[in-house]
Amino acid sequence: MNDVAHFAVCREPFYQPQGKEIELYEAAYAARLPVMLKGPTGCGKSRFVEYMAWKLGRPLISVACNEDMTAADLVGRYLLDANGTRWQDGPLTVAARLGAICYLDEIVEARQDTLVVIHPLTDHRRMLPLDKKGEQVAAHPDFQLVISYNPGYQSLVKDLKQSTKQRFSAFQFDYPEASLEARIVCAETSIAQATAEQLVTFAQAGRRLKGHGLDEGISTRLIVYAASLIARGVSPADACRMAMVRPITDDADVIDSLDHAITAIF
Ligand code: ADP
Repeated sequence: MNDVAHFAVCREPFYQPQGKEIELYEAAYAARLPVMLKGPTGCGKSRFVEYMAWKLGRPLISVACNEDMTAADLVGRYLLDANGTRWQDGPLTVAARLGAICYLDEIVEARQDTLVVIHPLTDHRRMLPLDKKGEQVAAHPDFQLVISYNPGYQSLVKDLKQSTKQRFSAFQFDYPEASLEARIVCAETSIAQATAEQLVTFAQAGRRLKGHGLDEGISTRLIVYAASLIARGVSPADACRMAMVRPITDDADVIDSLDHAITAIF
């Protein structure tokens, strides 16, 4: 289970660059700097890490963080079995031992005490203390820590502390520019270019409601969802309503104005 091959990214993931992020990431990896990917949900952060892991030939271990996550969920714990107790490494420990890229998605969701365990891994020490086991794991030379977070909708209480932020280099992601976004949608679903462009036009109209009834813009992920419905014969208007409007809001007025925009575009 804990071998490198298990976590390898075998096939090249499709990734459409938005700027110089590939070269910059390669430099960050060569310097073994921890990396933070900032940006709204569904704009390509996870896909970028998968692509970089593939390009660098490193295994990738991804963890979706949540508010119930404890330090033990990351580093490991003793488990009871028929023969007594046995230690089981958590995903962060496995990554540190194997020399994988460890991607902690939506890190800000995790509790502060959980976050503290990553600190010794992100400075010159590159160590992971397993307090319960009484072991200090020296990170493999190829290990790298990557975190993502969405500064947009988090309240101040949920912001990362400076003592955590200032351990990372950072990339700012955003929804791709219209022609790139249409290209992504075509590549992911093979729908007609003209339809992809209309979906992007609608998403951009919806994004203008951010802060005016919407907490978050319509993500690239949702455009891809709509396109995959269209590819299966659903009408573009139904696909937009189902994949790009209903999931993001319960506000009747916002739904109404988005539905009107759909009628105007399609
Ligand atoms: P995030 O991690 O930012 O929440 P993802 O990386 O999961 O978002 O992206 C959501 C989806 O959007 C992907 O599954 C992919 O279909 C598409 N996507 C967004 N940006 C890109 C990109 N630059 N290249 C390829 N696909 C992309």
